[in-house]
Amino acid sequence: ARAQIGVTGLAVMGRNLARNFARHGYTVAVHNRSYAKTESLVADHGTDGDFVPSESTADFVASIARPRKIVIMVKAGGPTDAVIDELIPHLEEGDVVIDGGNAHFPDTIRRERKLADLGLHFVGMGVSGGEEGALNGPSIMPGGPKESYATLGPILEDISAKVDGVPCCTWVGPDGAGHFVKMVHNGIEYADMQLIAEAYDLLRHGLDADAAEIGKIFEEWNAGDLESFLIEITADVLQHVDAETGKAFVDVVLDQAEQKGTGRWTVQNALDLGVPITGIAEATFARALSGSVPQREAGRAALASDAGTWDVTDRDAFVEDVRLALYASKVVAYSQGFDQIAAASAESGWGIDRGAMARIWRGGCIIRAKFLNRITEAYERDADLPLLIADPYFADIVGKGLQAWRRVVSQAALNGVPTPAFSSSLAYYDGVRAERLPAALIQAQRDFFGAHTYRRVDKDGTFHTEWSGDRTEHDA
Ligand code: NDP
Repeated sequence: ARAQIGVTGLAVMGRNLARNFARHGYTVAVHNRSYAKTESLVADHGTDGDFVPSESTADFVASIARPRKIVIMVKAGGPTDAVIDELIPHLEEGDVVIDGGNAHFPDTIRRERKLADLGLHFVGMGVSGGEEGALNGPSIMPGGPKESYATLGPILEDISAKVDGVPCCTWVGPDGAGHFVKMVHNGIEYADMQLIAEAYDLLRHGLDADAAEIGKIFEEWNAGDLESFLIEITADVLQHVDAETGKAFVDVVLDQAEQKGTGRWTVQNALDLGVPITGIAEATFARALSGSVPQREAGRAALASDAGTWDVTDRDAFVEDVRLALYASKVVAYSQGFDQIAAASAESGWGIDRGAMARIWRGGCIIRAKFLNRITEAYERDADLPLLIADPYFADIVGKGLQAWRRVVSQAALNGVPTPAFSSSLAYYDGVRAERLPAALIQAQRDFFGAHTYRRVDKDGTFHTEWSGDRTEHDA
């Protein structure tokens, strides 16, 4: 047994992770359900380093030095359980099984318990960065028992992305914490993409510009506060020309966004926790609306627009307004995502360090951005920060763009351009800073029809009013 680590599941992600390990000098045991993928990995990339291929699970496990570290990189769900069950009879106490797939975190919690009972370590590990990241350095979010990180951590940090020499990998927390954080990462990614798409749509309508011109604007934005992987690829995509038609590529793509489910999981979990992640939710629903084909057909046929003709006179000022509105909305979406992490961490006792999460997202992953440094700094100033946008740096930067944000959202409404994420982010901002909310009326209504009781601003206790009788108030 000479391999230092094993990888089973050699589709795009597993193959590239295995190559990444090998390129960093590790001897890598490789295995896949169908042997052809194992053979082709060694045939095509054997020069990357030292691979130990096995056809059977028994040989694969036997080829790894103890305590074994085995990364599973297969289709999430049933296949992951199938692979775990196949490995178990061959494993020995202290071995570490690592699931690098996009598992739903409750599954990870369940699997961790099962393996812990057998004396095995199970690490649910979020991996972001797609196939490119897996090969050249992903952002890695491992959870599971902390003691397993002592031996596993250095290897993962070695193959992860680095920003200013700092690895984009850290132990996130026990059991499902790693996959939970990866899920929220993906939720934030949905919001970020939707906000960028809305900015593009606003520029398109407001400026009456073509895709390539807007691509140039994104290119300029990428030199400032908004600098990020998603803005960079947006600039690229918008300037890409379809080879077949000669048209802007984005204009020949069907406008129905799909999803694999991590956004939906994020929203479902936020509903359970009662955390308002309106940006991520609107982004997820915007994808759903885009795919609602019969509804959109009916809407197009029957619904009036009654929108004005958008007459942007100062084009540069408008572009700057959209940029500021995008930045402010983005800060809100991230703030909400970090709130969700805090709430789940408190509920599950995970002890997640939010500043560290922002740090490991600076490189390797899809939402990688310079601006994440600012988030890390905010949590370094106050590890228990209750609201990220209320951190002095963010409060100041959002405050400076506030007029622009309001202009953009109102112009969008007046001109009939849908901006669910921009608009809801502004509504959240105004809601969370409001002195008083109409929730007082909701409470009164609830007490009226359901005797649900209410609390008062002027004294402690719980009260109920006799709405149908003499309307006296009494303690409930
Ligand atoms: P896929 O999700 O397409 O899964 C294919 C792999 O799963 C193959 O190796 C296949 O083996 C194996 N597999 C499927 N069913 C079984 C089974 N019942 N028993 C054993 N093996 C099985 O591969 P990807 O590389 O795209 O993704 C791997 C994991 O990484 C997934 O969980 C995915 O969600 C996650 N992920 C993917 C990212 C991406 O950008 N693609 C980014 C981050 C995470 P065989 O060859 O024999 O069919």
